[in-house]
Amino acid sequence: MNLNAAKRLVYPLTRPPGFGELQEVAPNVLWSRLPLPGGLDHINVWLLRNDDGYAVIDTGMYTPEAVTTWQQLMADLPGNAPVRAVYATHFHPDHVGMAGWLMSQGAEQFWMTRLEYMTCRIVFSQNNDDGVPPEFDAFNRSAGWPQGAIENYTRQYGSYRKRVSQPPFSYRRLVEGQTHSLGGSDWRVVVGNGHSPEHACFYSEELKLLVSGDQVLPRISSNVSVTPMDPFANPMADWLDSLKKLRAEIPDDVMVLPAHQECFFGLHARIDELVKEQERVLGVLLESLQGSPKRALDVFDVLFSRPIPQDNLLIFNLATGEAIACLNYLYELGEITWSVDSEGGRWYQAR
Ligand SMILES: [Zn+2]
Repeated sequence: MNLNAAKRLVYPLTRPPGFGELQEVAPNVLWSRLPLPGGLDHINVWLLRNDDGYAVIDTGMYTPEAVTTWQQLMADLPGNAPVRAVYATHFHPDHVGMAGWLMSQGAEQFWMTRLEYMTCRIVFSQNNDDGVPPEFDAFNRSAGWPQGAIENYTRQYGSYRKRVSQPPFSYRRLVEGQTHSLGGSDWRVVVGNGHSPEHACFYSEELKLLVSGDQVLPRISSNVSVTPMDPFANPMADWLDSLKKLRAEIPDDVMVLPAHQECFFGLHARIDELVKEQERVLGVLLESLQGSPKRALDVFDVLFSRPIPQDNLLIFNLATGEAIACLNYLYELGEITWSVDSEGGRWYQAR
C-alpha cells in the first residue's frame, strides 16, 4: 500500500480508454475500463477477439454503473460478436464481481484457478454464517482493534456479495502452465501468490504481453494480507517468492497490462523496485520492534506513509492484514517473537 513511483518505466499508450471505451493494444487485444467506487476509480479489463466471440479477462465490481458500462461495451464490440468466455485473475470483487452477470448475459465459459474460485464461493457465502465467527473476532482484537472498528466489522460482515454478482456454480479450472488460445495467440497461465491465494496472470510470448492483474502494478504496491481464516499464514513470503518467479519466467521486453493504472514497459525494474521497497519496510519494522512490544495496530505508522482511518473499514482491514503479513514474515524468519495478553492482544518484539 505504499506509493512508490518507478523511475524506469515507460508508458507507451498516452491516453487510457474511458469507461466502456475500447482501445486496441495489440491485434485482437482490446483494453477497456470499468468504473469502481472509492479511491481507485477504475479497473482495466482485456477483451480478446476470437473467431466466434470474445474472451474477457477480469470483469469489474458488481455495481449499477458497471452493468451500464458492460451493456454499452457489449453493444460496441467490433463485429457485434458476443462475450463467450470470462476469465477472472482472482477473487477480489473488482475482478470477479461481474463474472456471474456476464454469464447470465450468455457467456458460456467461466475460468478461474481452483483456490480463487473456492475462496470466492466461501466469501460470497459468509452472510449465511451465524454472525462473525469468534475466531475472526479474536483475530481483530489480537491486532488491537478498538471497539468501534469491531462493531463496524460486525455490521459489514458478509458484504462481499453486495459487490459481487452470484458466482457461477461451476467453473473451468485455470492451472499454472496451461496454454489458452485467445485472440489468435497462445497465452500461458502464470500463477502468483500473496496478494490472493492463486492469482492467474496471462503471458503471450508471441505478442510480448503480460496481463498481470494485481500481481504487478506500475505505481502502487498490491496489498498482501493475512486473513482471519488463515491467521498464521505467511503470504509475504509467497508474495516475494512469486515476484521473483515472475521475473525469472517472463522476459523484460513484455508490455505489462495491469489491472489498474496504465500499460507499461519495465517489468523487471518494477519487480526489483517492489521487492526492494518491501524488504526496506520489513527492515524498518524489525528495527521498530527492538524496544517495547507492539501490536499490529501499533506498527501502522511504521508501515504506511498515510494515516489509516479507523472509520474506513476497508482500509483499516487491509492495513491490519498487511501489518500481520509483515509480522508473520519476521516471525517465520525467527527475527521476532510474540505473546498474548489477558485480553487477547498479540504483542510482537524483536528477539
Ligand atoms: Zn486484488
